[in-house]
Amino acid sequence: MNDFVLHTESLSYQYPKGSKLIFENLNIPTQQHTLILGESGSGKSTLLNLIAGFSAPTTGKVYIQGQDIYQLQETNLDKFRAKNLGFIFQEAHLLKNLTVAENIKLAQSLAGFPVNESEVAALLEKLQLAALSNRKPNELSRGQVQRVAIARALINRPALLIADEPTASLDDKNTFLVIELIKALADEQGSTLIISTHDKRLKDEFNNNYQLSAL
Ligand code: ADP
Ligand code: MG
Repeated sequence: MNDFVLHTESLSYQYPKGSKLIFENLNIPTQQHTLILGESGSGKSTLLNLIAGFSAPTTGKVYIQGQDIYQLQETNLDKFRAKNLGFIFQEAHLLKNLTVAENIKLAQSLAGFPVNESEVAALLEKLQLAALSNRKPNELSRGQVQRVAIARALINRPALLIADEPTASLDDKNTFLVIELIKALADEQGSTLIISTHDKRLKDEFNNNYQLSAL
């Protein structure tokens, strides 16, 4: 299982008042682009939250780089996550009192890395955000905010980049542009990519598809 960036085993999750969600095992080798496809309510966010270490599964295990993540104590899990994982959510959740560049540098600090101004500048340049690095999130368009979120997720060159419906709030043209951008940057940063979506049109853009069935 050490050969896989991500390996899951018999994962299930029971919401206190909901039905039990059961997930197929995932075995994801390094550098792959995986699409988790499923309709609204099929369990995409639940699965990604289990993988990301945000909520412990009712049954089963999550191994990232061979590490059984729920064996880690909470503070170690936080550190492990900051170093090894990057997330892009449907909404960007940037800190609104920090500038674009400060939001990215914060991600470096939280992972215990020294702030590296030139790496931040280089990544912002690749995302065509260089001219906006001193702006606050409320001074950006929706698409620009989403690109900042992509930069924040990738700055630490995470082993695994997880994006939960990153294009849900974008129009068709931007959806395909953002998917191509995330894929290209994940490759450049050496990150293995998992994206969830309900959008069946994205299927052909990926070499590895996991379909979650409707409940
Ligand atoms: P998706 O991201 O694919 O839309 P989710 O993982 O958000 O799906 O939800 C999967 C299922 O779990 C749905 O039936 C949803 O109603 C249920 N669910 C999600 N969050 C909760 C919660 N906090 N409490 C109870 N049920 C929940
Ligand atoms: Mg969801």
